[in-house]
Amino acid sequence: MITILSGGTGTPKLIQGIKRIYNESKTKVIVNTLENDYFSGVYVAADIDTVMYTFADLINPETFYGIKNDTFITNEELARLNSPELLKIGDKDRALKIQKTRLLKNHNLSEVVDIQRKKLNIKSKIIPMSNENSEVKIVTDIGDLTFHDFLIGENPKPKVKNIIFSKVKPSNEVISSIEESELVIIGPSNPITSILPIISMDGVKEALKKANVIAISPIIGKIPVSGPAAVFMNALGYEVSSYGVASIYSDFLNKIIIDKKDISEKKRIEEIIDYVEIINTEMIDINTKVELAKIVLKELI
Ligand code: GDP
Repeated sequence: MITILSGGTGTPKLIQGIKRIYNESKTKVIVNTLENDYFSGVYVAADIDTVMYTFADLINPETFYGIKNDTFITNEELARLNSPELLKIGDKDRALKIQKTRLLKNHNLSEVVDIQRKKLNIKSKIIPMSNENSEVKIVTDIGDLTFHDFLIGENPKPKVKNIIFSKVKPSNEVISSIEESELVIIGPSNPITSILPIISMDGVKEALKKANVIAISPIIGKIPVSGPAAVFMNALGYEVSSYGVASIYSDFLNKIIIDKKDISEKKRIEEIIDYVEIINTEMIDINTKVELAKIVLKELI
């Protein structure tokens, strides 16, 4: 069995590769819930939905958000009514979110996700990191912002000085799934807003220290492949590089995979992580995703 720690863009790409070569029912995914919130009256668990749509082959492959070929009738009608949505939600995607919102009246988030993934015929267990809501504050030079206000808000972005998130309790299966896995994979996700919230919860680092843990760096050279990882890493005082990523995970990581463009970093990283593997980590198509998955899972396949 394997457990994957995931955010909502980089790791789902790797999951597409893993899914092709490893038994889905032996795969568990612990997903970030930091950004979960209500939008347009529905509960949005963006990273969880992305992971679900990835397993169900429904994901919009361009954005890794929402369902491919979805329509936006409700979204467009809301704009016409002068009530534009802060988050653009497609019609089919909204249906899943409405169901989640309804189910949350009588179930916790883990139970809701389990009901939905079974409906979507997903064999992998998808585990929200927590059933509690996170409070997250992006401290910037123009004041404190919510995560979504920062992400969706205007460009250029204000300077980020800190990221503060509340402490939440891990959901039931988080620790046991790490403990029972032959391999724990930290996907190429934003280390600050996707992975740190998971590993900061009580008991998670202790479980990871006893596990066989491999990470894939989301940073190639001095820039992330996509998204705001660089500004967040900077704000918390980490170097924006695969070395910086390694230093965030160094307490418990057995092995890190870095991109071939970062070969010059190998020596430095070996001072803090036992094994450093170098290959192409840019997942541009299904072949590169499967190739990376094969390297990650090489002890198990
Ligand atoms: P978010 O929830 O949208 O922020 O998504 P994630 O936390 O999953 O991840 C975003 C991170 O994935 C970014 O830091 C990207 O640099 C990284 N990423 C995206 N695509 C790739 C890729 O093909 N290769 C690697 N190595 N990293 C990637």
